Amino acid sequence: MNVKQANLQEQRKQLPIAKGKDAIIQEIRDNDVTVLLGETGSGKTTQIPQYLLESGVSGSGMIAVTQPRRVAATSLAGRVALEQNTSLGDLVGYSVRFDEVSSADTKIKYVTDGMLIRELLSDRLLSRYSVIIVDEAHERTLRTDLLISKLKTILKARNAPVHVDRKGKGRASALKANPLKVVIMSATLDAEKFSKFYDGAKILYVKGRQHPVQIFHTASGQSDYVDAATRTFFQIHVDQPPGDVLIFLPGQEDIESLDKSIQVYAARLPAEHMAVLTCQMFAALPPGQQSRIFNPTPANTRKCILATNIAETSITIPGIKYVIDTGKSKEKRFVARDVGSGFDTLLTGDITKSSAMQRAGRAGREGKGYCFRLYTEDAFQAMSATSDPEIRRCSLTSAFLQLKCLGEDLEELDFMDKPDADAVQFALKILFLLGALDTKKSLTSIGRHMASFPLEPPLACVVLTSKEHGCTLEILDIVSVLSCTSKLFFDVSDDRDNALEARRKFRHSSGDHMTILNAMRAYQEIASVESKGARRDWCRKHYLNERTLMEATKIRDQLRVACERIGLDWKASCGENEVAVLKSLCRGLVHNSALKQPDGSYMQTTGRSLVKIHPGSALGDRKADAIIYDELVFTTQIFARGVSAVPKALFAALPIFNRRGIS
Ligand code: ADP
Ligand code: MG
Repeated sequence: MNVKQANLQEQRKQLPIAKGKDAIIQEIRDNDVTVLLGETGSGKTTQIPQYLLESGVSGSGMIAVTQPRRVAATSLAGRVALEQNTSLGDLVGYSVRFDEVSSADTKIKYVTDGMLIRELLSDRLLSRYSVIIVDEAHERTLRTDLLISKLKTILKARNAPVHVDRKGKGRASALKANPLKVVIMSATLDAEKFSKFYDGAKILYVKGRQHPVQIFHTASGQSDYVDAATRTFFQIHVDQPPGDVLIFLPGQEDIESLDKSIQVYAARLPAEHMAVLTCQMFAALPPGQQSRIFNPTPANTRKCILATNIAETSITIPGIKYVIDTGKSKEKRFVARDVGSGFDTLLTGDITKSSAMQRAGRAGREGKGYCFRLYTEDAFQAMSATSDPEIRRCSLTSAFLQLKCLGEDLEELDFMDKPDADAVQFALKILFLLGALDTKKSLTSIGRHMASFPLEPPLACVVLTSKEHGCTLEILDIVSVLSCTSKLFFDVSDDRDNALEARRKFRHSSGDHMTILNAMRAYQEIASVESKGARRDWCRKHYLNERTLMEATKIRDQLRVACERIGLDWKASCGENEVAVLKSLCRGLVHNSALKQPDGSYMQTTGRSLVKIHPGSALGDRKADAIIYDELVFTTQIFARGVSAVPKALFAALPIFNRRGIS
């Protein structure tokens, strides 16, 4: 064993969870379901799978560890592979949407909760796994809740009691030979609820290593939290002893702008101060860049990590002594407009008390720490204790379809918290509009095909429809960009005119979708002949996000494979005929459409909301009779983003607008 590996093993032994190792293994061995509660950084996510593997509890099956976020899944897999001294993809692997690194030897697999749900479609009992660890269960994402619900039935099927025949002899059913263990892991004190759901499952507590954290509040509310965070950071940097700083912000844009201003001011500091090294951490950041936060801080340097709530519990960063908490996060929320209509939106809002406490806790991992809250003590007291589970506040369309494919109904499943009746109606209506369900709410063959794509049902519908119009090649280019975690045309508020000019050549008069296609086509041409450096320069010159284009290319290749699987010819191309493309888009985005009113405003075709075309749209001032859009964003008004003008006649031609009963 080399020195580095010996150090790693020593670190493993020093983790708080190591003390309870044998007891934990024994409890999991003895119980079908275990709820494990422990402070962030105690070692749950990285150690428990290794313990279960090393002690033989997992037997010949695989161990799945679910994560709500893909970055957490990929970076944890990397860490655990290192601890097991193997390369990633051998004993330890991961599987996230559009990306899998694993092999026949893989025994521990970090997966997103969504991927495991997807696996259910082909393996109803998840029989490849002997242990399923549902991690970060306190986040209560829609997919985690779905999984928790499904695991309850799977446990019943796989761990059914041994049948006793008339002679009194035990006769194990075939399934009994492959029993399942479920471990629910959570960072906060909601273990009772999980335990109750699994008929009183055993709860285990792991004590963390927590040092006192001194908390400061502001005397008055801060309207500009990026500015307040900048000032607070430099107060710490100039006055306080060494120690790294972790700043919590709601999203990528704020992170990027704070990063810029910290760097500008840091460069102006007199030489006697330590250097400042900033690191960003948010969901859309590529794994290579994320791992920078774990690198040891160089000498005479203060590391400043700018993160979203991803750094609250999923990952632990060593060396943090100071936390600055803006008190804000972005939360997915389904905005119900009227019965059967609404949309998902990401809203920046106040965090919960439980998040605020988690954030403060990040400062006390290695010694006494300090947390600077950029809000008042009253504001803290006014925060709600915990947030609603996603199932109560998100669109259910995709989950509904996946359950239908499993022969189940969302309305009838046993959930920890039941979904809202309006949201269920909305999902039902969309699936019906897309042709995935028939009038009897039964799954159609189209619906089954839709579910086979790793896409939201509307985009899957667009891909399927492209077959009729012979433009699958073009549609896959567009859909892959729409499926990326980051935007292709990033916001360049400080350099808007130059960006608009540079992007002009991609602009298509029909709007954003064809514009995306033009940019993607141009990139592919460059990528096929130019070097990496030249490609990067080209993207920079045209104000295109290269990260998005690379990700989109990868996604497109996977979608091509998904097409081949169902015999859809992805090479079918319509050339320059944009009508074929718009027709396909129209079919899948039918619920995301609006018609021009006599006064020039746009009203949704489903629902009664007035929407405005986003000012950043390639459509510009053009007043089309009808538009389709990718999403609605809700700021001061409702804006449609990703907009294309479509001939009004296209809607009339869609079967659904001829049917009665659809508004
Ligand atoms: P928990 O799940 O209880 O919050 P983890 O198992 O995620 O704890 O982490 C245990 C420890 O392993 C952390 O304190 C951290 O220092 C270390 N660690 C985890 N992931 C990484 C990584 N990618 N690189 C370096 N260290 C890591
Ligand atoms: Mg963890």
